[in-house]
Amino acid sequence: MAEGKELDQPVEADEGAVAQEEARAELPPAASAAPAVTTITISAIGDNTLGGPVGSERAKGSFQHLHSSSGADFARPFSAVLKVLEADDLTIGNLEGPLTDQGCRTDHTFAFRGEPAFAEMLKRGSVEVVSLANNHAEDCGSKGVADTRTALKAHGVGHFGLGVADVRTVRGIEVVNLGFTGGNLAVKREVVEAIKAHRKPDNLVIVSFHWGIEGTTSFSSSQQTLGRAAIDAGADLVLGHHPHVLQGIENYKGKRIVYSLGNFVFGGHGQPSDLDTMIFRARFSFSKGALSATGYEIVPAHMSGDKKQNDFRPVLVSGSEAEAIRAKVVQASPLGEAAAIF
Ligand SMILES: [Zn+2]
Repeated sequence: MAEGKELDQPVEADEGAVAQEEARAELPPAASAAPAVTTITISAIGDNTLGGPVGSERAKGSFQHLHSSSGADFARPFSAVLKVLEADDLTIGNLEGPLTDQGCRTDHTFAFRGEPAFAEMLKRGSVEVVSLANNHAEDCGSKGVADTRTALKAHGVGHFGLGVADVRTVRGIEVVNLGFTGGNLAVKREVVEAIKAHRKPDNLVIVSFHWGIEGTTSFSSSQQTLGRAAIDAGADLVLGHHPHVLQGIENYKGKRIVYSLGNFVFGGHGQPSDLDTMIFRARFSFSKGALSATGYEIVPAHMSGDKKQNDFRPVLVSGSEAEAIRAKVVQASPLGEAAAIF
């Protein structure tokens, strides 16, 4: 959603609804009320590291170096995808790495860190809420997490994960975001309890998992078990990340499990071999206080406009490149299920 855009705007009527409205104009006023349908559009993106490995800050080609050398333009990272991200009501991403000035742990091969000011990039990119449930959020300890939350708050960006839920009202509908590190099945009970605690007949519950095996395009049985358990407990949508590559999409009981969204603005790697990523868009319509219809699509993208050197600025792709990404997601989905959604 664009900065400053009202959340409670009137619902845009589709063509059918407009035709009905016109027909009803002939009728007495009592029958002229438009059907009360509210539609929320949500975009989901994968791993965002606004910064890079600790110690890489001054190296040519690093996220920070490119930021400084391109005029410290905070709008740059999301600028080529902004038209998609600002056209929705809510954009959800994974923030993989703290935003802090703190020193970081050294027992980690890749400790990520970015400047607190980089939170502005999310705001300028129309990313409203991010998950901190991942294996890098605590790279700079609890102070790093606290600094990250402070930086996000200062820029009006919400967060969830690490025991915190993001609960907000979008177009009059309560939307709950929950996030978990889903490395193993031990988290299942906590996931189910948290979903049940937030589930209401008239709200939307979205669960993000940081799970799976890095570099692997097929989802694992434990991802499937957790994803399905989340939906059985009442989740409306499951979003996954961590493998850094795209995985498939499952239609489970009419809900979607997006196993891995891939990288997005990812400062963790200067020359990734696989640039393919996507924006997953979901539309949820509510009628008479209950979820009445859903729609889904993927928007194919590359995590970098420069194919040789990551420029940390995802771009939309079309033609054969877009088809290749769609085909890859379909191939990684259970028996062509993803093909039915776009
Ligand atoms: Zn990760």
